[in-house]
Amino acid sequence: MRIVTPQQWFEVQQKADGVKLIHEPWIRPFYRCNLWHITGRDRDALVDTGSGVVSLRQQLPWLTERPLLAVASHSHFDHIAGHHEFDERLAHPAEAEIMANPDNASTLADLCIGDQMFEAHPGCPLCYEEYRVKAAPATRLINEGDVLDLGDRRLEVLHTPGHSPGGICLWEAATGTLFSGDIIYDGPLIEDAYHSDLEDYRASLERLLTLPVRTVHGGHFPSFGGERLRELIREWLTAHA
Ligand SMILES: [Zn+2]
Ligand SMILES: [Zn+2]
Repeated sequence: MRIVTPQQWFEVQQKADGVKLIHEPWIRPFYRCNLWHITGRDRDALVDTGSGVVSLRQQLPWLTERPLLAVASHSHFDHIAGHHEFDERLAHPAEAEIMANPDNASTLADLCIGDQMFEAHPGCPLCYEEYRVKAAPATRLINEGDVLDLGDRRLEVLHTPGHSPGGICLWEAATGTLFSGDIIYDGPLIEDAYHSDLEDYRASLERLLTLPVRTVHGGHFPSFGGERLRELIREWLTAHA
């Protein structure tokens, strides 16, 4: 396995509307979580925190130079293993227990951690047996209709279960931007995890179909527009009719 330095582990890309993508390019695409940093006037939000194999705070110290809300789109290991590094941790109540007492089964790490996940390891070879998600109890529970107020921008919480029971999206109506987590992205969707629910999945997607979305920043794979969103949802609904 190739070794890269911890300094090479994260990549940051500036997107439109004060949004940055942070990701881990040495993790293969299917396993590679998109971390979305949203800059506000008074505070910032970070949707998901990645695999935790390298410290986000150490490598990207600018993250904590301003107040930061670390939001969990849901509690799978690839999304929340960096949460313990941040003081303000937001999660849906249906997955609060997993955030507080994570293990490799409940966070799906058991199914994913291995050579198939990595193009390279940081610093030295990883010992997969020692991989653990650290506890990161929510400091604030967020539910349907809650608003994250960044000062000059409002992110509305949509409860979108299906992939997992406490999955959420953040919806910024002013820019038509949806931060969708794993309920929808432009790649193979997971609807058969141990706590997935097909009926919930269908209801969540039908609801997202009604929103005037212009941009989708998902939990995995590249971002896309509203037309593609509606196409992906219609394809899913047809395939699961
Ligand atoms: Zn997931
Ligand atoms: Zn994921």
